[in-house]
Amino acid sequence: MATTETIAASILIVGSGVFGLSTAYALAQRDAFKNTSITLLERLDFPAPDAASIDSSRIIRPDYADPAYAALMAEAHPHWRGSFGAEGRYSEAGLCLVQDSGDESGDNAAHYYLIKALENVKSKLGLRVGRREEGGQVELLETPEDVARVTASMGGDCGRRGYVNWTSGWADAEAGMRYLRDLVERTGRVEFRTAEVTRLHYSQDRVEGVELVGGERLSADLVVLATGAWMQTLVDLRGIASATGQVLAYIDITQEEQDRLGGNPTLLCETNGMFIIPPRNRVLKVARHGYGYANPTTIPHPERSGDTIAVSLPRTKQDDPNLNIAPEGDRACREYLAKCIPSLATRPWTQTRICWYSDTPVGDWLISYHPTYRNLFVATGGSGHAYKFLPVIGERIVDLVMGEERDVLGAELGKKWKWPAQRREEDQVWTDDWRGGVKGMILDEELAKGEIAAPRSRL
Ligand SMILES: Cc1cc2nc3c(=O)[nH]c(=O)nc-3n(C[C@H](O)[C@H](O)[C@H](O)COP(=O)(O)OP(=O)(O)OC[C@H]3O[C@@H](n4cnc5c(N)ncnc54)[C@H](O)[C@@H]3O)c2cc1C
Repeated sequence: MATTETIAASILIVGSGVFGLSTAYALAQRDAFKNTSITLLERLDFPAPDAASIDSSRIIRPDYADPAYAALMAEAHPHWRGSFGAEGRYSEAGLCLVQDSGDESGDNAAHYYLIKALENVKSKLGLRVGRREEGGQVELLETPEDVARVTASMGGDCGRRGYVNWTSGWADAEAGMRYLRDLVERTGRVEFRTAEVTRLHYSQDRVEGVELVGGERLSADLVVLATGAWMQTLVDLRGIASATGQVLAYIDITQEEQDRLGGNPTLLCETNGMFIIPPRNRVLKVARHGYGYANPTTIPHPERSGDTIAVSLPRTKQDDPNLNIAPEGDRACREYLAKCIPSLATRPWTQTRICWYSDTPVGDWLISYHPTYRNLFVATGGSGHAYKFLPVIGERIVDLVMGEERDVLGAELGKKWKWPAQRREEDQVWTDDWRGGVKGMILDEELAKGEIAAPRSRL
């Protein structure tokens, strides 16, 4: 462990997504690490197009059922409103969280999440309730007519009830990552290398180093693994975290449509996990926060030679340039678009993508030393909600690298992010966190159900 007394002389970070890049920045800025060599390895030239952290948009919201994440967002938000969000990287157009079923029972996970999130933004963050025209920050939407009022320019049926938080917004995800990369480069403290790690060299209670494609070996006092949904190739996380593929679809729109829809709040339906982020540069995105697809793959056991394990691994356009979303995902996105914005119902997708979450049992991240290998630290398990914390998460990770839990919030989150005492019995983790779609879908089985129309790059 790298405590304040025993600072590592060399640190290798593997993976340059939200977790890895923000860790590099926090290390580079801390005085304690001023004599430490810091290397960041990334398998593709930055920004890796299939990384979860790289996309046109990510929702930035404090609307969490868990007050600890709402409070962490309260720390991150000023950064988005400041330098991180400058030059169009952040738009605060609101988040409209809705339900689309008649079920109001407390047992309904979607309803529970919505009610708890609302409670937190009101009581914990102290946002003012009321109409926006009257200075309200959070507006209750108690009827379908209320929902229709704040989504009027979409022209469709966007939900039955919910609320809109006008202090939430969305970020241009790739631009945010480029901004942070630039900050890290300017520190002059981090060596960047495009190199894929094929395996870690494990000894009894340590990691001696990493091996790269081509056979080169690098050693370090501390290895920080932040390879997102690809983690399982390098460390055994069965029953702790799993890769799940999520569907995204994009369409081109006209300038008139851009002007009409561009200022909308993001629409997120808690009943089915579907969401629409307002368009930018005449591209509109429809997606689902779902249980996703598993992609079971048999690989050599990352920690024990001679054994194999079956784990879910990402499959992306880097592996297969013709990979599209499966028919059921296509249908879900199409039906949601047609329902909410009927005028775009038949517009073909210009692009589709399967983007990979690293999912944990309840959606808490995994930011912890490995219980067996004492110089191996893991930072993963984003569970579809880590991007918004880009400006602050690296500091938390480095606190935990140093064995510190500096304040109440840190201690609470530190506990949530600890290596679990027990693994789930099933190797594949299907999260209990609220999601849309069906639990248990297998990528190949869903793809085999037919092909979707090839995306077209014209209106
Ligand atoms: C479709 C989708 C929608 C989302 N929406 C939101 C949202 O609205 N709001 C929000 O806050 N969050 C959202 N998220 C979640 C957020 O984007 C992720 O939690 C976060 O980006 C995860 O970051 P990461 O660093 O763990 O993973 P990644 O960004 O995937 O980074 C891992 C990196 O490791 C590299 N790598 C992998 N293996 C190796 C190797 N062997 N050697 C070297 N490098 C390697 C990869 O190339 C990659 O660059 C969403 C995620 C997805 C997929």
